[in-house]
Amino acid sequence: MGSEKRCFNIEENGFHILVDNGLIGLEFEKAENGFGLSNVVNVLTGYSFMLPSEEKATLWQAEFRDAGGREHIIDNGVDCKRSYRAEETPDGNLVLQLEWSGIGLGDEKEAVDVQVSLTLKKDISLSYWRIKLSTRSEKACLWQVTFPSLSNIGATRDDPSHDLLIVPDGWGRIYRDPRTMSVYNATYPGGWNFAMQFLAFCHDRSGLYLASHDPRAYYKRFAFNPDTYTGTTANHLPQSSFQVVNFPENMGTLQPGYETPYDLVVGVFEGDWYDASQIYREWVLKNASWCRQGKLSERNDVPDWFRKIVIWCLPEADFAEKDPDEVVSMMIKFKERFDVPVALHWYNWHKIPFDTDYPEYFPVKGGFKEGVKRLQEAGVRVMPYINGRLFDFNCKSWRLESAEKYCTKESAPRLKPQTLQNYVEFYGSRQKFAVMCPYTGYWQDKIAQIVKRLVDEYGVDGVYIDQIAAAAANLCFDPNHGHPLGGGNYWLSGYEEMLRKTRERAREKRPDVILTSECNAECFMTYLDAFLTWHTFQGELVPLFPAVYGGWTITFGTFFSRDDLENPSSFAAKLGQMFVFGAQLGWFGLYEILDERHRTETEYLRKLAKYRGLGLKFLLHGRLMRPLEPEVPIPTISLRWFFFGRTVDVTLPLIMSSVWKAEDGTLGLILTNISTMPQLAVYRVCPEEYGLPAGKGYLVSRITEKGTVKMGEYESAEIPVKKLLPGRSVLMLQVETQ
Ligand SMILES: [Zn+2]
Repeated sequence: MGSEKRCFNIEENGFHILVDNGLIGLEFEKAENGFGLSNVVNVLTGYSFMLPSEEKATLWQAEFRDAGGREHIIDNGVDCKRSYRAEETPDGNLVLQLEWSGIGLGDEKEAVDVQVSLTLKKDISLSYWRIKLSTRSEKACLWQVTFPSLSNIGATRDDPSHDLLIVPDGWGRIYRDPRTMSVYNATYPGGWNFAMQFLAFCHDRSGLYLASHDPRAYYKRFAFNPDTYTGTTANHLPQSSFQVVNFPENMGTLQPGYETPYDLVVGVFEGDWYDASQIYREWVLKNASWCRQGKLSERNDVPDWFRKIVIWCLPEADFAEKDPDEVVSMMIKFKERFDVPVALHWYNWHKIPFDTDYPEYFPVKGGFKEGVKRLQEAGVRVMPYINGRLFDFNCKSWRLESAEKYCTKESAPRLKPQTLQNYVEFYGSRQKFAVMCPYTGYWQDKIAQIVKRLVDEYGVDGVYIDQIAAAAANLCFDPNHGHPLGGGNYWLSGYEEMLRKTRERAREKRPDVILTSECNAECFMTYLDAFLTWHTFQGELVPLFPAVYGGWTITFGTFFSRDDLENPSSFAAKLGQMFVFGAQLGWFGLYEILDERHRTETEYLRKLAKYRGLGLKFLLHGRLMRPLEPEVPIPTISLRWFFFGRTVDVTLPLIMSSVWKAEDGTLGLILTNISTMPQLAVYRVCPEEYGLPAGKGYLVSRITEKGTVKMGEYESAEIPVKKLLPGRSVLMLQVETQ
C-alpha cells in the first residue's frame, strides 16, 4: 500500500539499454551495436540467462528472395539508421520500440524498415514481443523472419549439469543437461513433437519461458540448439540458442510488409516444469480459439459413453492383418474378462493393404459389418482407422477425380516461382503419397463422406482419422486453393472445417459418434474428441500436456509391443504412467494377456481400468495439480522399450502418482505401485497449497472398488500419508474440506 517504488525501470548505460518491471529484466545492446538481446534476468531468483559474447547479440533475422532465387539476409546488426524509445502507455504498460530504418536490400537502397516492440506489464514476469517489417523492395519478397533469436543461453553460474530443457513433446519431456541432447526442431502445428507453443529452460529453479501466444495457430517453427561443448576450457561461454521462425502470408509475392499476428513471449519464473505449464495454461484456456467450447464438463458434444471408455484394443500387435471374425471373437473374450467399458481401434478393416491406395477404403473385408454389430451387442465400441491426410498417387481416383488439384504444393524459396512441386511422402508400405490440402472443399468432403459411410452403412461408433494432429503442417503455395500462399493459419482453419463437416454429417444418423486423431496437437481439440498419445514414451516424461489441458480434452493409449508383455515390468510401467497422467488405457492387440500365465498383468490392468472408472472426476474432468514430493525416496526401475526396430531406455519410479482437483473442490491423490513387491509411499500433503481453504478440517477417504471408506479427519495444515502399497496396487485418496 502506498508504495513509492516505480514499477518499471528504464536505464541506458555505457553499453546497454536495460528495462525491467521488478520481475523480469531485459538488456539490449545499444543502437550502435544493433539492439541485440544480451541478457534476460530472472529478478525473482537473481539469475541471468545469458552472458556477453564476442559476437554482436542477436534479436531478429529476415530472409528475402528475388526472382532468381538469390537470398538477401538482413538482421538486427545490419547497417542502417537505428533508434529506440520507451514509454508508459495509458493502460499502464511499458513499451520499448526498437527501430531499424532505411535498410538496403541488394542494389535497392532504403528498401526495408523494421520495428520491434516489447511490452512489459505490471506484476507479470513475461515480456510480449512483436516484429513489423515494412518493405519497398520491387525485386525481393520476404520469405521468413526469425524472431526472437536468443543466443548464448546457458549456465551463467554454477554447473551446466543443473540446466534442463522442458519441451512439449507428447506428454512433455525433460532433457537434463541439454549438452547431451541434439538440436530440437519442431513445426507448429505438428503434434508429433510440439503439442503446445512453449518450452522452458531451467537452471535449478530459475526458469526461462519461451513461447508464442498465438490463439489462431499460425504456421511457425521452433528451434532450440543446445551448446554441446563438454570440454574444460574455463572461458567457454554458453551458446545454446532459441529461435522462432515466422512465415508471412503470401510468400513468393511482393508484399508491403509483415507483422507477427501474435505475441512471442519471453518470460521468467521460479520453479519447474509444472510452473511453466501453468503460465501457458493461464493464457491458452482464456484466449485460444480451440478453447472456446469450454472444458469437458461444459461441453455436450463429447458423448458420455466415450468419456467412460477405459481400455483401447487393436486387432493385433504391430498393426498386422487379422481376419475380422478372429478379431471379433478375441475382442469379445477380452470384454468378458475385463467387464469395463472397452473399445476397439480397428486397423485393416479394408481390403486394400495398409498405407496403400488411400483414400479408396471401400469395399470392406468380409465379416466387418457383421463384426461391428456383434461387438456392439457384446458392449464393445468400434472405431475404425482411416488416414485424413494422404492420397496414393497410384490409386484410381487420383486421376479420375484430378485430385492433384487439391494436394499441397511446395515452392522453392524465390519470388514468383514458375513451377510448384507436390509434397511427396512414403511410410512402411513405400507407396508414394500426396499430402492433401485441408483447406480445399474437395478433401474436406472426401473425408466427411468416408466417415459418413462408415457410420451410416457399417454402424461404427466413431472414426480415427490418422495424421491430422500428428504431422507437421505444410506450407502450401497452390493459388487455386483460396488460402494465403505459404504462411498463414489455414492448416488449422481447413482441418477445423473438415472435422466440423465430418462430425455434423456423421451425427445426422448417430448423434453420439466420435472423431479422434494421432498425437496431441492442442489446436485441433474443438472437433476431435480425443488424441492418441501412442508416440510418447521415451526419455524423462512429465505430464506437461495434462497440466495444461486436464479437464479440457481426452487422451488415450500408448505404444505397446509384444516384448512389453514378455517383460511384465514394461507392460505395468506403461499402464501405470498412462493411468496417473489421466489417459484412457491400453492401445494394444495383445490377446495372449488372457492366458493364465499373464494372470498378474491381467489383474493389474483390470484394477487400473476399474480405478479409472471410479476416479473420472479427477482423471478425466479434474485439473492436474503439482505432483507430490516423496519424503522417502522411491526406488526406480530401468527398462528397455522397443519401437519399430529402435530401442528406448527409460528409468521410472516404482510408485507413480499424480494429484488432481475435481470440480467439486475435492483433491484426488492417485498412486500406483507398478512393481510386484510392496513399496513404501510417504508424503505430506498440504491442502492449502492445492487451493483448498486454510484453517479448516479435512476429511480423507479412500476410494476403493467396494466403496468409499473414511480414513481420517485432520485439523492440521498438513496431512501425513504413509502407506505400504502392495505390489501392482492402486491407492486413490480423496481430500475434502469439512
Ligand atoms: Zn493448399
